[in-house]
Amino acid sequence: MPPEPVISIDRVNHYFGTGQLRKQVLYEISAEILAGEVVIMTGPSGSGKTTLLTLIGALRSAQEGSLRVLNQELNHAPSDLLVQVRRNIGYIFQAHNLLNSLTARQNVQMSLDLHEEVSEKAAQKQAEEMLDAVGLATHASYYPHELSGGQKQRVAIARALVSQPKIVLADEPTAALDKKSGRDVVEIMQTLAKQQGSTILLVTHDNRILDVADRILNMEDGRLSSLSAIAA
Ligand code: ADP
Ligand code: MG
Repeated sequence: MPPEPVISIDRVNHYFGTGQLRKQVLYEISAEILAGEVVIMTGPSGSGKTTLLTLIGALRSAQEGSLRVLNQELNHAPSDLLVQVRRNIGYIFQAHNLLNSLTARQNVQMSLDLHEEVSEKAAQKQAEEMLDAVGLATHASYYPHELSGGQKQRVAIARALVSQPKIVLADEPTAALDKKSGRDVVEIMQTLAKQQGSTILLVTHDNRILDVADRILNMEDGRLSSLSAIAA
């Protein structure tokens, strides 16, 4: 069987503001992303990348067109369905968004709290294993302020992936990192997602990581196009 699309976008438009201030930021976006694909989205600042990512992530409501994520139509979807879809998505943002009052393990374990079927003890074990997978086994009881930028971003990856989400959405996850840490972080994300069969959609300005992608999409002025050649 050919891989199924986990994300199907068909002629999506998006607007911010109302009345005279209404401004269109996405124009006729259409794309399909298949199970297990690693897709990178590039494009200038302000072109609409984050807006599209938050629509796909069910973090904001779709307005026009069809947006199917994991076989659910998100346009005009009730909020309980959006919540259900979000449970199958791992999010990684530019700023790590870790809670400063929790240790690395507690931060990772937190994303299993949504999953009632996982016991406290199992959650702790899975969190520790995931920290081990991102190379931070010895840092499980460290607080965010005791970790470097790259280490914090690795905790954020562990947190996003510990629940084995079907889709991982990452918005400029390497922006605050030096070259080596940025590369490490993306490679860890890619390896773990491949192991779990997750689909990755990653927004980046970082030309040095384009080669991890199976496919590259380019956003410009709210319009999406495919890039056939990978820029070196
Ligand atoms: P990118 O992630 O590519 O930098 P964004 O999706 O963040 O672009 O923004 C696309 C456009 O939408 C920009 O012109 C931005 O100013 C505008 N925009 C983003 N979020 C909002 C918002 N909450 N309200 C109004 N305009 C917004
Ligand atoms: Mg953005």
